[in-house]
Amino acid sequence: MKKTIFILLDGCGFDVATENLGFLEHLVQEGQGGKYKILGELPSSSRPIYETLLTGLSVFSHGIVNNSTVRRSKEISVFDLCVDSGLKTAASAYYWISELYVRAPFDPDNDRIRLQSESAINYGIYYYEDIYPDSHVFNDAEFLRKNCSPDFLFIHSMNLDDSGHHSGCHSKEHHMTALKVNELMATFMPKWLNAGYQVIVTADHGMSEMGLHGGNTEVQRIVPLYLFSERVRKGSFCESTISQLLIAPLLCDLLGIEKSPKMKNLEDLGVDLFEK
Ligand SMILES: [Zn+2]
Repeated sequence: MKKTIFILLDGCGFDVATENLGFLEHLVQEGQGGKYKILGELPSSSRPIYETLLTGLSVFSHGIVNNSTVRRSKEISVFDLCVDSGLKTAASAYYWISELYVRAPFDPDNDRIRLQSESAINYGIYYYEDIYPDSHVFNDAEFLRKNCSPDFLFIHSMNLDDSGHHSGCHSKEHHMTALKVNELMATFMPKWLNAGYQVIVTADHGMSEMGLHGGNTEVQRIVPLYLFSERVRKGSFCESTISQLLIAPLLCDLLGIEKSPKMKNLEDLGVDLFEK
């Protein structure tokens, strides 16, 4: 078993990441991790893809078909698999994650901070405004990491999605938001890697020039995957795209737990992620 932090940068397309996340790019160049290009599942919408990332299933299979599908997940998530294996889980995330894996609908008075929960997310701090600062999301996560010692920590920022909707993927506002995320990465990544965490960074979907997403174009679907673990191949492997369905089984593999029966086998996805 190896402790793992999963960072989901909501609405961060591949090119915006490459252009702005210089600290992660630096770590890859220094031989500390691997970078890949992911073709996101359809529709390129948030709530459906959260469920896809955390259960490994396509949207058609898991049934969270749009952002208005407000209900608990009916599938086996990485959080469930962790708890079944005796691992502790935590999340600093948008409230839709609480709705999927804790309870729905979200009640801010009772659900915003949960430091004891019978759900598959043992410790959670959830925000419900898209403008809740990414810096606070990362600080909330660091509070959970230091005080609750999770084996699996999920961190989910929203400001990139918000700025993308306001101004589009080529705007100065969107890129400045990405540069702020880069600052946060530079602040926290060294601490986490030194503390022995593996770290995986990706996005649910990208963003169009008009500031929209949901459809089937590259700018909406293609997102980055950065992987930091002693076990993974080091370097940039972005010549072709790989499947978003590999994230859930990859998380299980990194955590050293069994994947769910419905998740794809990593070997079948045709990607060589690990050092020989
Ligand atoms: Zn969005």
